Amino acid sequence: MKLSALGRIALATGIAVLTTAALPGTPATAAPVKKKILPVLVEFSDASFQFPEQVKASTPDTYFGAKKDSVSSFLSEVSRGQYTMVPAVKEKLIGPIKLDLTAGGCQHGEINKLTRAELTKRGLVEGKDYDSLSMVFPAQKTNCPWAGLATVPGGTTWINLYGTASGLDVVGHELGHNLGFAHQGRLMCTGGKLTACKSDGTSAKSIMGGGGWLSGFSAPELIRAGWLSGGTSLKVSKSGTYTLRPLHGTGSGTRALDIALGKDRLVIEYRHAAGNLDAKIEGVHAYRVPNGAYGSSSMIDTTTKNKTPSNGEAANTDAITTLTDKTNKVSVAVVSSGGGQARIKVALNGDSLSAIDAAPSKSATPTPSAATPTPTASASASTDTEAVTDDSEAATESGSEELTAAGGRSTTLPLAAGGGAAVLAAGAGFLLLKRRRRRA
Ligand SMILES: [Zn+2]
Repeated sequence: MKLSALGRIALATGIAVLTTAALPGTPATAAPVKKKILPVLVEFSDASFQFPEQVKASTPDTYFGAKKDSVSSFLSEVSRGQYTMVPAVKEKLIGPIKLDLTAGGCQHGEINKLTRAELTKRGLVEGKDYDSLSMVFPAQKTNCPWAGLATVPGGTTWINLYGTASGLDVVGHELGHNLGFAHQGRLMCTGGKLTACKSDGTSAKSIMGGGGWLSGFSAPELIRAGWLSGGTSLKVSKSGTYTLRPLHGTGSGTRALDIALGKDRLVIEYRHAAGNLDAKIEGVHAYRVPNGAYGSSSMIDTTTKNKTPSNGEAANTDAITTLTDKTNKVSVAVVSSGGGQARIKVALNGDSLSAIDAAPSKSATPTPSAATPTPTASASASTDTEAVTDDSEAATESGSEELTAAGGRSTTLPLAAGGGAAVLAAGAGFLLLKRRRRRA
């Protein structure tokens, strides 16, 4: 039990709460996964939805709609069909159900317990009738310091709903936590020296790092989920020049380079507009993965500027050009980047970048059959690594002063019932929530 390690909001977008060391297994495989998700509308003894009919109409649309920004469309696109969410019941939602519970105090544990008791009464069994439970309740009286909360990893989400529709930016972010992803921060390594970095803000390259759903997930997260299997994430074991295709979108080719950096990993991706994603992100981006915990990576930014979804910076503002890690004897240089392809020199074991031929090495030929098959995707999401992931996530997410106010309250909250999930993380909606509060 690690309740003392309870969460501080790491990125001003959420809180994380480590509740128990019992980790549910979520082995990632290359086989397509279909998850049955059950949205349940929940009301309190002293608080109801202001417009229940509108909430009932919008919820199936948010989760299962044909629109590009529904939860199911998003997860299908970002996983390239390897992970889909389908309705657990034919009505596509349950409720509103009225709990014998007052709204105040943001009692997420009680909400979970009482909702599950009601589902059991109705004959719905977790693991058989549904895999993932998403409780949506009116926010007006809860005083929850978040717009969304989730188990990390796990199958439980709480949506503290303002208005009549929960958007993908909140729900998709919480489901990312369910997949085992922490918040994604940014390491500022000005000049490209990996031995001199400091934490600063969010990556804005993932829905887990303030990038919104239009950025999808980043390469380390896709590796964590097991979605870059079959050699599409290439473990680089020798110096050479490697070719990357865009991270998102259809087609074959290498989508990420995965390089040892002592005990950590350096993951490199090339971002370029594809499908509904990355219209505002371009260029080669790099991430540091602590101790093999691919769900807890930070973007490496060699500049002080940061491209966010809303600022006017160029799409490639925080793309890397060179990286050097003298301690681990790794250097990286982008040879070319743009138009849907990037070429990257990687020098290992202290090799000189200038000694490497700028023509792509054979091993990076962008055809999946020619690429070295790598078991890393599933290995990275094995139970062993999962424990590491969650531990490091808790460590990462503690200690930010900014989060104390919201996180402090959570220290008295009960454990999440069901599933023995390890961590709770509250979400993307934090800033959203603050904005809305100001408006209210
Ligand atoms: Zn979050």
